[in-house]
Amino acid sequence: MSKEIVVNGHSYRLPSAPTVIVCIDGCEQEYINLAVQAGVAPFFESLTQRGTVLTGDCVVPSFTNPNNLSIVTGAPPSVHGICGNYFYDTETNAEVLMNNARYLRAPTILAEAARAGASVAVITAKDKLRALLGHRLEGICFSAEKADEATLAENGIEDVLAKVGMPLPSVYSADLSEFVFAAGVNLMETVRPNLMYLSTTDYVQHKHAPGTAGANAFYAMMDRYLQKLDALGAVIGVTADHGMNAKTDSLGRANILFLQEWLDAQFGSAAGRVLLPITDPYVAHHGALGSYATVYVAPQADAAAIRHAIAALPGIELVLDKAQACERFELPADRIGDLVVVSERLTVIGTTPSRHDLSGLDVPLRSHGGLSEQKVPLLFNRKIEGDLTGRLRNFDIMRMALNGIHS
Ligand SMILES: [Zn+2]
Repeated sequence: MSKEIVVNGHSYRLPSAPTVIVCIDGCEQEYINLAVQAGVAPFFESLTQRGTVLTGDCVVPSFTNPNNLSIVTGAPPSVHGICGNYFYDTETNAEVLMNNARYLRAPTILAEAARAGASVAVITAKDKLRALLGHRLEGICFSAEKADEATLAENGIEDVLAKVGMPLPSVYSADLSEFVFAAGVNLMETVRPNLMYLSTTDYVQHKHAPGTAGANAFYAMMDRYLQKLDALGAVIGVTADHGMNAKTDSLGRANILFLQEWLDAQFGSAAGRVLLPITDPYVAHHGALGSYATVYVAPQADAAAIRHAIAALPGIELVLDKAQACERFELPADRIGDLVVVSERLTVIGTTPSRHDLSGLDVPLRSHGGLSEQKVPLLFNRKIEGDLTGRLRNFDIMRMALNGIHS
């Protein structure tokens, strides 16, 4: 195959060798580094010699959906429209879940490659991403979470549990991500898709710091499957949707700034609405707490005064107005509030204490969302050609894997 496709202004060569793009959810680079140091990640270790090891910037907010969509469209949220799990629809006066594919404004490289004749497979851990990643895709697309429900008509594959040889994993488990890799290896051994996208879940990274036994076991597991894909002749590119950091003090107590509570107390209860786009149907492991919030300021309130007051709060790294945020973070103006607030590495932003259920947090809080989780790995099992001196993004990975590698 030597065909080229153009998607969202960039051209991509259709793969000549089976190409696997892996998004390791919440993969702070230190996880890989310390797993390699511990001697449990020989595939990753081998990349410094025979592959390419780079660092890229993810999209801010450093959340799962905006970054997964950026990776598969090769474009920032200003192009594809997905800038969080939620936005506030001012017309209907409601917080709207953005998991539905109708909010996606751009075609994916996956769907366009399939339309041009490539066989394409997408496997996600959580089902929340499946509809977005599989938008208009003629191919295989299913989630580990609902692998038992996959049908030929809907997902392009059936009998997934039997094919993979694993039971249906729990949505809160390391097994959910292992299932993604096991299914990916099975597909590579059988269907051998031209292009495959594997996306895991950050359940382990939310609970386990880099270098700990739980983290190293998880990276050793992924390393074993990546070795198999490598041995099957696949070109492999690995990146992350975002990093992950402890959000606590020295005794593991969460540093939470309850911004809605503070705003109500300082400026009155009608001054504005704090929206946390990390909120999603699966919050037990982070309590919907992250380092990014957007504030919808009421028309009668003084947005500049609110902005300056928030910027002076301890734990706040940055407050931007809408225009600045759209420019700096390449966000869609109609899906963010009047202010964008980013907290420092050790701090998360909440709304009010009563709206965060922290009972599921059985270990000290680790989370993401801010600039402090922006650096992610960009790894390949081949040498990449081309100029690599400028700023690299995680959503350059398809371009690099498809255009920059001669296998
Ligand atoms: Zn994530």
